[in-house]
Amino acid sequence: MNTPRSKVLYGLSSEGLIPAGGDLRILGTPGAVQAFLRLKEAARADGYEVKACSGWRSFERQAAIVGDKLALRRPVLDASERPIDISSLPLVQKLEAALRFSALPGFSRHHFGTDFDIYPENLLPRGYALQLTCAEYAQDGCFYPFGRWLAQNLERFGFLRPFSGAGLVSREPWHISYFPEAECCLAQFSLDEGKSALRASGLPWAEAACAYADAHFPRCFS
Ligand SMILES: [Zn+2]
Repeated sequence: MNTPRSKVLYGLSSEGLIPAGGDLRILGTPGAVQAFLRLKEAARADGYEVKACSGWRSFERQAAIVGDKLALRRPVLDASERPIDISSLPLVQKLEAALRFSALPGFSRHHFGTDFDIYPENLLPRGYALQLTCAEYAQDGCFYPFGRWLAQNLERFGFLRPFSGAGLVSREPWHISYFPEAECCLAQFSLDEGKSALRASGLPWAEAACAYADAHFPRCFS
C-alpha cells in the first residue's frame, strides 16, 4: 500500500493535513482539527485557553528527538521523570530508556495526524517554561484543574488520552487522540511498513529500532 495516506501513517508525508487553528506549524487531519477546534471553544467557555504544542510530526523529526536522546544531547527521564545516565548502557537498553517518553520513529501516534499535545496557556505561571510533565497535572501542579476538565470533557469531542500509564508508554496527560480516526490508523498500521521506513532511513540504530518494534508492537501505541 503506497497511497499518500499510508505514507502519512509512518510520518513520511503530511499530505491532506491542515493547520489546527492559527499556528500553521501544528497539523492534523481535517476531522481531528475540527474536533480539536470544538474542544478549544468549549474549554475557552470554561476559562481555559487551550493551545497545541505538537500535532503531526514527521518521521525525521521523531528520529531527531530519539537520536538526540541516544547521543545524550537531550535528557532521558526515568518513570519518575528524573534524568538518568544511559551513557554506559548497550544500544538496545539505551533505546528502551529513550523510548519511555518518546515514540520510535515510524511508530508514533503523532504521525497519524490525529493526535495533539496540548496545554492551557492561561494557566502557565509567569516566567515558567512549559515542560509537559505529569507533575504539571498533579494535585499541586499548575494544570491540575485543566486535567480534571479534560477528563470530564474529552470524550464528547471524540478524544481520549491513550497514554494512561497502564501500557508500555509512560503516562502523558497532555497527549490527546481523536479516536474515531486514530483507531482506523492503528487498524491500517503495518509492522512491516514501519520497519521498512526505519531501514530506509539509514539511521545507525535502525536495526536495534526494528528489534524494539518486533518486541513491542502494537503495545508501543498505548
Ligand atoms: Zn504527544
